[in-house]
Amino acid sequence: AGALRGRTAMVVGGSRGIGAAIVRRLSAAGATVAFTYHGSAEAADALAASSEGVSAVKCDSADAAALAETVEHVADRFGSIDILVYNAGVGLSGSVDQMNLADFDRTFAINVRGAFVATKAASPRMGEGGRIIFIGSNVTQRAAFSGAAAYVMSKSAIAGLARGLSQDFALRKITVNTVQPGPVDTDLNPADGPKSGPTLSLIPLGRFGETSEIASLVAYLAGPESSFITGAALTINGGYSV
Ligand code: NDP
Repeated sequence: AGALRGRTAMVVGGSRGIGAAIVRRLSAAGATVAFTYHGSAEAADALAASSEGVSAVKCDSADAAALAETVEHVADRFGSIDILVYNAGVGLSGSVDQMNLADFDRTFAINVRGAFVATKAASPRMGEGGRIIFIGSNVTQRAAFSGAAAYVMSKSAIAGLARGLSQDFALRKITVNTVQPGPVDTDLNPADGPKSGPTLSLIPLGRFGETSEIASLVAYLAGPESSFITGAALTINGGYSV
C-alpha cells in the first residue's frame, strides 16, 4: 500500500467489472483516481462515493471528441495524468456473415479508437515515469470460440497500438503495456454463464479469474517497480493459452 501515493490516475471505463477493480486497487495504493463510465451511473456513483480521492465522469468512449475533452478536463483538474488505464471494451459477437457493420464499427470505436484518442489527449500531460496500460485480451493468442472475429481483431489492434506507442514514448520514460486477461468473472463473461462449461475445461487452474487479480497486475505496471517493462503484452489467464 502507498506505492502510488501522490500519483494521479485516469481509468477509462471504470464503473463495473475489471475497470472498477482497477479503480479500487489504484486508490488503495494511494493514487487519486478519476474514472469514466457510460451506461452505469448508479454503479459509478457508488464507486466514487466508496473512497476519498475517487471521482466519476460520464463519457462515451465511442465519442472521440467527448473522450478527448474529458481526458483534458481531468488533466486540468489534476495538473497532470501520471497513469492512464484504458479498460473500456465491448464484446459484440457474431460470425462475420451475421455481424452488421455498425456493430463492427462500435467494437472498434470503443475497444481501439478510444485507446488511441485517450492516449493522444493524456500523453502531453504526462511526465517522466508515466504509465499507459491497455486492457486487451488473451484471445490474441487463443481464440477458442466462434463469433468473436471482430473482438479478437480489436484486441490484437490494441496490443499493436501499445507496441507502437512504447517506441513513441520511450525517450520520455513513459511505458506502454497491454494486460491480456483470460476469462474473468464479470457481467461480460459470467462464471455461471452459458459458455462457462466449455471455457472452464480450457483453464488448467480450473476457475475463472477474479477482477482483483487483473487489478493487481495493473497496479504493478502502474507503479515504480515495473520501470523496465514496456511494449509488452502480459497475459494473465490461469494457463488458458499455454
Ligand atoms: P464489463 O462489461 O463488466 O464492464 C465494461 C466496462 O467498460 C464498464 O465499466 C463499462 O461502463 C465500460 N464501457 C463499456 N462501453 C463503454 C463506453 N462506450 N464508454 C465508456 N465506458 C464503457 O466488462 P469486463 O470488466 O469483463 O471487461 C473489461 C475489459 O476487459 C474489456 O476491455 C474487456 O474486453 C476485457 N476483457 C474481459 C475479459 C473477461 O473475461 N471478463 C477477458 C479479457 C478481456 P458502463 O457500464 O458505465 O457503460
